[in-house]
Amino acid sequence: MLKKILYTLWIAVFLLFIIYTAKSTNFNTFLDAVENKTFDLRQSVIVKSEYKKANKDIVIIAIDDASYEYILDKYGEWPLPRDMYAKLIDYIEAQHPKSIAFDLMFVKSIKSKPGADQKLADAFKKYDNVYTAMNLDNQSAELRIPAELPASLSVNVKNYSQDIDFDSLSFLNCRTILPEIINSTDNIGMINVSRAEDGIIRKMPIFVKYQGKYYPQLAFKLGMGLIHEDEGYNPPEFIIDKNSNLLLHNRKIFIDEDGSAILNWYGPTGTYQQIPMYRLIRAVENKESAPYNFKNKIVYFGTTAASLFDIKTTPVAKVYPGVEVQATYVNNLLDNNFIAKVDKWITVLAGIILAAITGYLVINIASAAIVTLSFVSMYSVYIMFAYFIMKYHNLWIGIVYPVMLGIIIFISAFVVKYIIKSRDFEQQYLLATTDGLTELYNHRYFQEQMKMQVEQSKRYETPFSLIIIDIDFFKKFNDTFGHQAGDAVLRQVAQLLKQSVRATDIVCRYGGEEMSIILPNTSKEISVSTAEKICKRVAAKRFRLNNYQESNVTISLGVSSFPQDGQTPSEIIDAADKRLYQSKNNGRNQVN
Ligand code: GH3
Ligand code: MG
Ligand code: MG
Repeated sequence: MLKKILYTLWIAVFLLFIIYTAKSTNFNTFLDAVENKTFDLRQSVIVKSEYKKANKDIVIIAIDDASYEYILDKYGEWPLPRDMYAKLIDYIEAQHPKSIAFDLMFVKSIKSKPGADQKLADAFKKYDNVYTAMNLDNQSAELRIPAELPASLSVNVKNYSQDIDFDSLSFLNCRTILPEIINSTDNIGMINVSRAEDGIIRKMPIFVKYQGKYYPQLAFKLGMGLIHEDEGYNPPEFIIDKNSNLLLHNRKIFIDEDGSAILNWYGPTGTYQQIPMYRLIRAVENKESAPYNFKNKIVYFGTTAASLFDIKTTPVAKVYPGVEVQATYVNNLLDNNFIAKVDKWITVLAGIILAAITGYLVINIASAAIVTLSFVSMYSVYIMFAYFIMKYHNLWIGIVYPVMLGIIIFISAFVVKYIIKSRDFEQQYLLATTDGLTELYNHRYFQEQMKMQVEQSKRYETPFSLIIIDIDFFKKFNDTFGHQAGDAVLRQVAQLLKQSVRATDIVCRYGGEEMSIILPNTSKEISVSTAEKICKRVAAKRFRLNNYQESNVTISLGVSSFPQDGQTPSEIIDAADKRLYQSKNNGRNQVN
């Protein structure tokens, strides 16, 4: 019974904990932070296994430290004059690349080279596969008046997901780029990023919001341009379904709560072919024959030089150039392998099932070593499972929550188990020391207590007494009324004895219809009068034999005391027995 209550209580507390953890945002923030680290670990191991191959068509023109030096040397300033970019575009376009994208923002006009900006703008106009970047921010309107952006840069988004809001990707201001470029092309995407609290970039926005409209990320816009060209798919609007998936023809991109897609990494930095920009500039300037092949390539310009401050931290590398993040993004989109989060409730369910098995094992397996081993192996299998479905199916199932539930259950199950065990021990002790019929102490306990009383009385020089009781003519009583009635009388006599003595007195069933009472710290006189009181009470009582019969019984009693009647338990018992015999001989229903 108590066992059941304990189990119910335990499971109830556990379920309350699950409900609490599901609702508490603080707790979830903490869990997410730890879960993110397991994501990083999974990605790092997957990347090392080299299972996923980066898209070979993506090439990075890297403005690395050498290129930066070269530009300062040759042109005396950074940024590079814009007409040089125009020349680079012409040079690459001559080889028919799939597209060219600049992870650079052409913001300020360069005064020293009038007309250069227009040349770049003309190149954007000439080739419809050249893309460039812009950025939204929350700069105060006092410092910079929020610009109006052409409607053609925005996209229509229908968000049917209850889980996604674009609050953290909504911005108040915009860092516009050269108006010449804005007027020349619609191939402009935003390059805002989504950083987690630990600063690590695990996801990237698909759309960012500004003045109530959605603007696509540069990599998304570029990727959609490529999908349009290759697959003929160019949706008039983007639909995010109620399961938080952005539906794109034969692709489905899972969108996280803040409106971002979770990136899947292909390797540490340097996954994509990198060409230092100065080599390309030199090729253009010297009119060299092409040392690089750009045919059907997706060419991404971006900075990798530490001095140009576009360094991000990602799950797979602490130092990761922004342009490689963009390249990874396009790669995810083209190869359809963004990460999808497994529904939270599935993780919770997995956690509950594993926890239930853990609880069952702990409670039912005796060996703590075997239980611990099964616990560790079971969760190891789960972690391996989580690793493999990320590796082969791009799915992110939670590890931290199930493991945490498991540990809590593992520990609490041991606590519950030991509470029950100690309670079982108490029950066994009770069984071993009491008599089932009368619920009095049994003969064995009586003998133990006699020994203890003798020792204690000797040490503290105090008296103690023993009363032995035998029911009169009980054999005949049984013969007359039956054994069941006899048992009922035994129980009632036992009850009456307990009620007639002090709580510290020890009432035992000596055997058969004989009972005994040990009276610690009690002199002979008091014990005799107690015995007489009991004798009278029994004689006066009508005992219920069954539903329709009552009867009287009498008892005979013998009293002995330490130290005058003996020095050992058996001497004292013998003395009481002799007095009981006397009571029987003198006519029963009396004390001696
Ligand atoms: P007296 O003690 O007055 O000399 O007579 P008595 O008939 O009680 O004699 P004795 O002590 O020899 O008999 C004990 C009887 O008690 C024998 C047995 O039938 C009965 N008895 C012993 N244990 C139990 C029991 O657990 N239940 C019942 N119903 N009867 C019992
Ligand atoms: Mg007897
Ligand atoms: Mg008897």
